[in-house]
Amino acid sequence: RKLGYAIVGLGSYGLGIIIPQFKNCKNSKLVALVSGDAAKAKRVAQEYGVPEKNLYNYQNYDEIRNNPDIDIVYVCLPVSMHAEYTIRAAKAGKHVLCEKPMAVSSAECESMIAACRQASKKLMIGYRCHFEPYNLEARRIARAGEIGKLRYFRSEHGFNFRDPNAWRLKKALAGGGSMMDIGIYALNAARYMTGEEPTAVYAQETTDRKDPRFREVEDMIGFQLEFPSGVIGSCQSMYSANQNHILLVGDKGRIEMEPATGYQGNRMWVGGNGRDKEVTPPPGPGATQWAGQLDHMAQCVLQDREPIVGGQEGLRDLRIIEAIYQSAREQKRIVLKA
Ligand code: NAD
Repeated sequence: RKLGYAIVGLGSYGLGIIIPQFKNCKNSKLVALVSGDAAKAKRVAQEYGVPEKNLYNYQNYDEIRNNPDIDIVYVCLPVSMHAEYTIRAAKAGKHVLCEKPMAVSSAECESMIAACRQASKKLMIGYRCHFEPYNLEARRIARAGEIGKLRYFRSEHGFNFRDPNAWRLKKALAGGGSMMDIGIYALNAARYMTGEEPTAVYAQETTDRKDPRFREVEDMIGFQLEFPSGVIGSCQSMYSANQNHILLVGDKGRIEMEPATGYQGNRMWVGGNGRDKEVTPPPGPGATQWAGQLDHMAQCVLQDREPIVGGQEGLRDLRIIEAIYQSAREQKRIVLKA
């Protein structure tokens, strides 16, 4: 059976990446659109066969409650709008898939989790790498001990931001800078690759406040994560250089990925000597990482299971990001609460 999705926000991710993926899904179909631009919504609806009665805007959004076609709402809006549109969806009796980062603060994450729990609705966060074959295989190899006892994790994630007017550079809309948007991939990977939760963080920030892009949010943050096993994570997040890399070093070998978390074209090398042996992973759970993600949420609803990347996963990252910002601001190591 296919469950019906409403996509909220027809931007580069919602429209450009997610909507074209329903054709690859087994349990998910596109049934409704929510947009502030009626003409755009109509055009997209025609292209993808969405009935006109299933088009909503931000004002009449709550009326989705009366539409049985919609099972799941997928929030693809700027970060500051995630909490509001998740909570309104839950109150309208819909399950929610919300993009990363989950919200601008851990307090907002907690209110989203509470709203979904109160409405008995599932909440999942759009951590697509948990459905991406290279990341799944690297995690399997690392956790199976194939590179021995893990010693350290390294990851650099960034891109060179061009548009100084983008919402991602406005603190009120994005909640923060590169750490919230792209550094979160390094942080989340450090957690899922090691299978551990960090106990302390130490971070440094470098931002040129005279650069018109960085009047409100940070450019570069370097952060260290301490894990209970003794593994150290060293990560860089930036909005001023293109980087997409993961390195896991164990006492018997290493796993290197570059690009590590891309939409496509990821590559991985496993072994003892640098990039000697390139590895192609087995297929992931879906035809693509997005189909795997969309269908996982649908299956969780159909089978009454908790998503593997639920609200708690988004909340954990936000709590650590808040500690990273605090560490950079106060120039001291921050111990994380268990
Ligand atoms: P975008 O700017 O391309 O699209 C944002 C959409 O929100 C647009 O349709 C815009 O019209 C709408 N919107 C409504 N109110 C707005 C406001 N006040 N200001 C700006 N836009 C407003 O952004 P995007 O790249 O599509 O990102 C959307 C979400 O998807 C973000 O949470 C982002 O982090 C996430 N994202 C995730 C991935 C991933 O790989 N998982 C990739 C890209 C984006």
